[in-house]
Amino acid sequence: MTAHHRSPEWQRTVRANRSKIAATLPARCIDCGGAIRPGDRWQVGHRIPVVVAKAQGWTTAQINDLSNLGPTHAKAPGQRACNQIAGGKLGAKKTQAKAAAKRETTKRMPSW
Ligand SMILES: [Zn+2]
Repeated sequence: MTAHHRSPEWQRTVRANRSKIAATLPARCIDCGGAIRPGDRWQVGHRIPVVVAKAQGWTTAQINDLSNLGPTHAKAPGQRACNQIAGGKLGAKKTQAKAAAKRETTKRMPSW
């Protein structure tokens, strides 16, 4: 979970929008495209992930706007945890990019 998702602002956003999103069910999961039916376990997720949106200069208000939010499968028995998988993939990408940058730097180091 990112700092963004631990912030009181995000907690308020979820509280304010969860019922609005719930009213649109059944709907497609914003991460896997599979169905989310009323009664399924789901979370409020970002269509454009927070790290991507921030890198593009979006404000927090834009990132948390209802137009960027949608339902994503939450961890439950027999069900994918799409929100956690999406977050994990982004985290792994970040780690890999950092490792690649470090390798590049090491490669260019003089050998003396
Ligand atoms: Zn899903």
